[in-house]
Amino acid sequence: MLTKEEQDKLTPDTVLELLKEGNRRFVSGTLTIRDHSQQIRDATSGQYPKAIILSCVDSRVPVEDVFDRGIGDLFVARVAGNFENTAILGSMEFACKVSGSKLVLVLGHEYCGAVKGAIDNVELGNITPMLKNIRPAIEHFTEYEGDKTSKNEEFVHMVAEQSVRGTIKDI
Ligand SMILES: [Zn+2]
Repeated sequence: MLTKEEQDKLTPDTVLELLKEGNRRFVSGTLTIRDHSQQIRDATSGQYPKAIILSCVDSRVPVEDVFDRGIGDLFVARVAGNFENTAILGSMEFACKVSGSKLVLVLGHEYCGAVKGAIDNVELGNITPMLKNIRPAIEHFTEYEGDKTSKNEEFVHMVAEQSVRGTIKDI
């Protein structure tokens, strides 16, 4: 758990470096072992997280683990396809302006079902309007001459990356 004083000393660059270091531990399989029951007790007095992460809902991307963080370290906003909307922007403003977080990070990922669904124009209930948020990233590649279906891993990767870039710009 961070204190307010510790949070105040952080800069966006130091937070980004801490998250990259945590991600290296995740990749190398050396995650920090945490006593969550103690952390929960420590957290009752308040929270001073370092960053807010916008992530996809994908079950294979457990955000705190991906950055080797524990309780009280991060705000996490999640929506399939990791795009922003008014509620997410409000959550980011709460994280940074009200709670003092130093960094907004948009986390995309490989083999994203939302990106694949948007590429294939999946139509199903509320998924249809949700996937429209990913359309601009697909339309960015109108000149692309390869196979524009979710079977093309290269295209899925390009759209996922472009979607993160577009989301950062929109934020
Ligand atoms: Zn996804």
